[in-house]
Amino acid sequence: MVGEVKRRQNLRKGKLVELSRSLVDVGKTLPKRTCFICRQKANKSVLCRVVRTIEGTVSLDITGMEPGRGAYLCLTRECLGSTSIQLRLERALRTQIGIEDKELLVAQIKENMMRFKEIEP
Ligand SMILES: [Zn+2]
Repeated sequence: MVGEVKRRQNLRKGKLVELSRSLVDVGKTLPKRTCFICRQKANKSVLCRVVRTIEGTVSLDITGMEPGRGAYLCLTRECLGSTSIQLRLERALRTQIGIEDKELLVAQIKENMMRFKEIEP
């Protein structure tokens, strides 16, 4: 009887370890982020990150490593070309985007769109 309970406890422990391990693995291999335009989840590597830096400026984060609050966007024409991009970005980053920042961002996004077209099959 005691042996049976112990075996069950061990089983449960084993499952928990397995579960947490698989969660870590998923996090490592497939970091998913949600696009702030279409709300679809995609692999982090196919999204571009827009960051609100500590200084409060908003810019495209090519490296994905910039410190600050980030929002992710698909590299598709639909999402990059969305007319509500500024509004949605302001909501996602909880900030107001200045005209200078916006112009810079639009230029950076256009540049990335061209890069995206190049890699498109
Ligand atoms: Zn999208």
